[in-house]
Amino acid sequence: MGIQENYTAIKDQLPAGVQLVAVSKTHPVEAVQEVYDLGQKVFGENKVQELMEKYPLLPKDIEWHLIGHLQTNKVKYIAPFIDTIQSVDSEKLLAEISKEAGKNDRTIKVLLQVKIAAEESKFGLEIDEAKTLFQKYIDGEFSHVEITGLMGMATFTEDKDQVKEEFLILKGLFDELNQLKTLKTLSMGMSDDFPAAIECGANSVRVGSAIFGRRDYSK
Ligand SMILES: *Cc1c(COP(=O)(O)O)cnc(C)c1O
Repeated sequence: MGIQENYTAIKDQLPAGVQLVAVSKTHPVEAVQEVYDLGQKVFGENKVQELMEKYPLLPKDIEWHLIGHLQTNKVKYIAPFIDTIQSVDSEKLLAEISKEAGKNDRTIKVLLQVKIAAEESKFGLEIDEAKTLFQKYIDGEFSHVEITGLMGMATFTEDKDQVKEEFLILKGLFDELNQLKTLKTLSMGMSDDFPAAIECGANSVRVGSAIFGRRDYSK
C-alpha cells in the first residue's frame, strides 16, 4: 500500500477524539508534504537536527511535536516554533524549555515522558519523579511551559497483556494528576500497539511506519 492508503486506513481506525501524530522521522519532506496534503497537520520527529532540516521546507501551519530524547543544549534551536515537546524526561530539561520559551515570548506545551516499560533502555521519568515535577509546576515553577499531559512507551514485546498493563499504569497516573490540574493529552501507542493504547485510554497516538512505511536507517 502507498502512503495515501496507509494514512486513510489509520484514520479510519481512530475513534473520534483521538489525535494522530504522524511520525515522519527518516522520511523525506516529499512524504511529509503528501500526508499534509491529505489533511494531516500534526507531525512528530525525534531528532532536533532532522527537524531543523525539514522545518523550513514545509508548510508553516504544521504543528511539530518533538518525541525523542532532547538534550538541554538543543532546546534553543526548536524553541521558536515547536508546538509540543512530548519527551520531557528531567527537571533540568523542563527548566530549560521554560527559559527558552520565555526568551521567545512563548508558552511551549510539553508532556512528561514516564517510564512504564520493563526495558532498561527507555528514557523517561519514574512515576514519583513525574508527580514531584507536576507539583512544582502547579506551585508556579516553569512559567513558560504548559504541561498538557503524559507520554509513555510500552515494552517492545508480543505479550499484549504486558503492553496493556504498562499502558494502564500511565492511565492511572494521568487520572491521578488530572485531579490536581486538568490534563488534556495521554500520548501512548505506536504503529504496532495503538489499538491497545486506545483501549487503555490514550487520546493521542504516535504512528510512523504504519503510515510512511518501514524506516531505512542506512541512508
Ligand atoms: C519512532 C517513534 C514512534 C513511531 O513508531 P512506529 O512504530 O514507526 O509507529 C512513536 N513514538 C516514538 C517516541 C518514536 O520514537
